[in-house]
Formats: sequence, C-alpha cells, structure tokens
Amino acid sequence: MRAYAITCFCEPVVPVDSADPQPTGTEVVVEVTRCGVCHTDLHLQDGYYDLGGGKRLSLVDRGIKPPVVMGHEVLGRLVAKGPDAPISDDQVGKTFLVYPWIGCGTCETCLRGDENLCAKPSSLGVFRPGGYADKCVVPHPKYLVDVTGIEPTLAATYACSGLTAYSALRKLDINKERDLLVLMGAGGVGLSGLQLAIAMGYRNIAVADIDPAKRDLAQSNGATYVFDPREPDSASKLLAQAGSVAAAVDFVGAKATADFAIASLRKGGTYIAVGLFGGEITLSMPPLVQRAITLRGSYVGNLAELKELIALVKLGKLKPLPVEAVAFDRVNDALQRLRAGKVQGRLVLAR
Ligand SMILES: [Zn+2]
Ligand SMILES: [Zn+2]
Repeated sequence: MRAYAITCFCEPVVPVDSADPQPTGTEVVVEVTRCGVCHTDLHLQDGYYDLGGGKRLSLVDRGIKPPVVMGHEVLGRLVAKGPDAPISDDQVGKTFLVYPWIGCGTCETCLRGDENLCAKPSSLGVFRPGGYADKCVVPHPKYLVDVTGIEPTLAATYACSGLTAYSALRKLDINKERDLLVLMGAGGVGLSGLQLAIAMGYRNIAVADIDPAKRDLAQSNGATYVFDPREPDSASKLLAQAGSVAAAVDFVGAKATADFAIASLRKGGTYIAVGLFGGEITLSMPPLVQRAITLRGSYVGNLAELKELIALVKLGKLKPLPVEAVAFDRVNDALQRLRAGKVQGRLVLAR
C-alpha cells in the first residue's frame, strides 16, 4: 500500500510504500476512498502551533514525531477485520465514515464517551496513521459510522469540520429564534457551522470574514448579516443592524477574531473558541466579572455527537458544504491551496 507522509516537519508530504496492514485483535482495516484536507494538517506539517508572543507549541512536545501519515476525515470500505473485532462478516465490503478522535479507551473521560478529551490521545491522522493512504487501520469497529445515502465526498467532511462545528454549537444556550449568534470565519468549518446552525434552528446569524468571496458564500448559504470585522466601525454597525451578540463561535481562533468577538458580547454572553489559527489575548479581569461572560474552548467532538450529526444530515436538513474532490497524488497541491486561504468549502482527496 502507499501512504503520503510527513517525514520531516515543514516539508511536503512524500509517498511511502509498505506492506498491507494485517489487523490484529479488535482492529479493522478500511480501504480509503475519501479523505478531507484540514487546517490541522497544515499545523502538523509545520510542526507547531503559534501560541502568540513569539511562543510556539511544538508537536514533538505533544508526542507527535515524523513520519506522520495525516488525514482524519476518513471514509473507506471495510476490507479486513481482526479475529476479535465485534462486527459481522456481512459488513465487510461496506463503506463507513471513521470517527478519528480516539482516546485511550480506558480512562474515566473515555468511558464517559469523551474520547476527544482523553489525556492520552490516539487520534487518527495525528497520533496514529490516518487517511492520506490506500489503507487505514482503525482500532475497533465501534468507530465506524454508517453514512448510507450521503454523498461520499461530503460525508468525509463530517468527521472533523462538521463535527467540530456541531459540537461547538451544541454547547450554546441561547434563544434560537431571537438571540444573535455571531460566527467568526466562513472557511470550511465556519461554513459548516453556518449550515448546521440553520439546521439546528438558529434564525439570527451574523457571519464575519475578511474575504469578500467567503462573505458572499455565507450570505448565499443563509446568513442573516455578513460583515468584515476589520472595518473600523464594524462592531457598532453589527449592533445597530443585527442586535447585541448573545454568543460568538470563533472558527478562526486568532487574536483579532477573539478580541472582536469577546468585546462584542452582551452581558452574560458566551464566546466559544474552535479555530487553531494561533496567537494570544489579554483580558482585564473586572469586566470579565461585571459582564458575566463565558469563555470556552471546544475541541472536535465525541462519537455520540458524530452519530447525532449524521442522523441530522440523513434527515436532509442540512445544505451540503461545497466540496471539491482532488486525486490522492495531488495532496501537496491541496495543502498549498488551503494554506493560501483560497479554498471555498472543503478539499477532499478522492479515488
Ligand atoms: Zn480537522
Ligand atoms: Zn482515555
């Protein structure tokens, strides 16, 4: 089989050939037919996250060492199962979406169902080989999700961009009919967030993006109000035209987006950080208390949430995210296009 791996941080991925994996224990093997290309992959390629103030979070310090086979939005055909894998033979040959945010499986957090928050993560495409490959080993069939009836290129994107947006939106507690929800960023995850917010019943949604093409896309996808947060009077215009901000979900996660969103919140409002662009913010303590605002992070989502999301998609309530299929051997091209910020929706490797 062939995989595309980072063999050295900051370098393009390279093809690496090896023998086909033989599943042991409860493992299953999927033949990858789709794999989404995510912003996280750019951070993996760089080898660090920007903490702001000249500080970096090195991936080596997080236990991630090359070679790394990236790719965590994996869709594939089940082709082999280990002797202890609890899945019936008639499932072999079927196509599944793979839940990638796998934990140790034994700690309290994992047993509660929040494997994405496990202190010893084993995520596909990050800590263990992912879907930029012909085949991918999944430790247990419980991570396979039935996506029958969903267009496969689109289905792949639900494992990260869809799930991340869904889990963040689920954490909100505002009036869906009346309260103003602000979404910062209309890239792949942000656009997913907009479509999901609409499907989940939010009726008053403002979307911020610095790129006019992405603002247009947000508008045509149902945003009530779009704006450029860099415009000097954007906050006062937002308040005048759309109302006070009850909650903001930051799909960028940069200093500028966080500063804007937190400053815009009304008293009692909630800010949820999702994006990993990087940077740092400074907060004065008294206003945090006096405004009684909530600041919260949200990292991908758990397996139960992915299943809820897929059920929502199957109900036909969600407008499909724009996706573009790219051949697996064009993976470096796809990563470069994403880095340049020129992707509308999501790029998905396909065969
Ligand atoms: Zn991702
Ligand atoms: Zn765990």
